[in-house]
Amino acid sequence: APVLAIESSCDDTACAILSPQGEILAERVHTQADHAALGGVVPEIAARAHLSVLPGLVRETLEESGLDIAGIGAFAASTGPGLIGGLIVGSTFAKGLAIARKRPFIAVNHIEAHALSPRLPGHGGDGIKFPYLLLLMSGGHCQCVAVRGVGDHEKLGGTIDDAAGEAFDKVAKLLGLGWPGGPALERLAREGDAQAVSLPRPLLGRPGCDFSFSGLKTAVARQIAPWGAEALPRKVAADLAASFQRCIADVVADRARHALEQLPAARALVVAGGVAANGNVRETLEAVARDHAVPFFAPPLRLCTDNAVMVGWAALETIRAYDAAGIPLEDGIEIAPRPRWPLAETGERLRATRG
Ligand code: ATP
Ligand code: FE
Repeated sequence: APVLAIESSCDDTACAILSPQGEILAERVHTQADHAALGGVVPEIAARAHLSVLPGLVRETLEESGLDIAGIGAFAASTGPGLIGGLIVGSTFAKGLAIARKRPFIAVNHIEAHALSPRLPGHGGDGIKFPYLLLLMSGGHCQCVAVRGVGDHEKLGGTIDDAAGEAFDKVAKLLGLGWPGGPALERLAREGDAQAVSLPRPLLGRPGCDFSFSGLKTAVARQIAPWGAEALPRKVAADLAASFQRCIADVVADRARHALEQLPAARALVVAGGVAANGNVRETLEAVARDHAVPFFAPPLRLCTDNAVMVGWAALETIRAYDAAGIPLEDGIEIAPRPRWPLAETGERLRATRG
């Protein structure tokens, strides 16, 4: 039977219904606009907005699918990591439906949902087999993950300060662009010269797969200082944007190279998260994949950023994995939302059966 999934870990409220094969039967997303004016996500405002839009959103998604709620076989929600208020709203709502309909609730790890999203059928990545390498780069996350199977992931590296998307947002702000900054910065960078300004490339060439971006941001701030944000000539801003973007792409490529060396069995290099929308980053990673003779894949953008389809897909993959392992599906009803939920702490029961 189909699954109904909810995503509410940050500032997007989303609901999706997927067939057991992973076909999207209906999808609704509500992106909270208030945060743009405030220059970032305000957790309290986000939680209240989730609470007010979620019931209507779920009803609309059901209507669009043409299904009755009795036809839903399982309910799922992002249960962490993320902003606790939103996680409580989404997972409690889904648990309520699960209890009322006497169906299982699947507590989905939001990062695992990003990690498994490339395997969703019909979006170009169906064929992607475990193990593969995932670079997850969004506003809140920046990590490099070896994806070996459902509930079986190893974090090879993460950021020691800012996430990649956060770096884009902060530098965009320094350049006087709006929030979220990534798309605006990429547009401005098209007018600039990536060679114009010499910026540091943090951790480039160092062993491992960790990231660091705060030094880069400081270096950009230092370049802007003599002008002041108001008087910054457009040409200088464009050159800075292009040079910054080049730096990020170079650093990310270097980290991806190291990760591929750590996971020689990798059968694909996959990028997800909002930063995957960046043309420069994509092209550079594509070249790395080519050098290592592995396929490169970036899911369509609406699957890269936060969405409920990936949550539903992760739930379906989880159901299948339990089935394959011959153990009963773990009912997540007792699983409390977790603002922090490391990938290493998901799928313990599945891993145990695999030995
Ligand atoms: P989470 O971290 O919980 O997944 P999020 O809302 O921060 O949630 P996403 O929606 O995946 O993350 O991505 C948003 C981030 O991606 C923002 O930081 C934004 O600046 C960045 N981004 C979006 N488009 C681009 C782009 N073209 N170039 C660079 N960065 C981009
Ligand atoms: Fe996310």
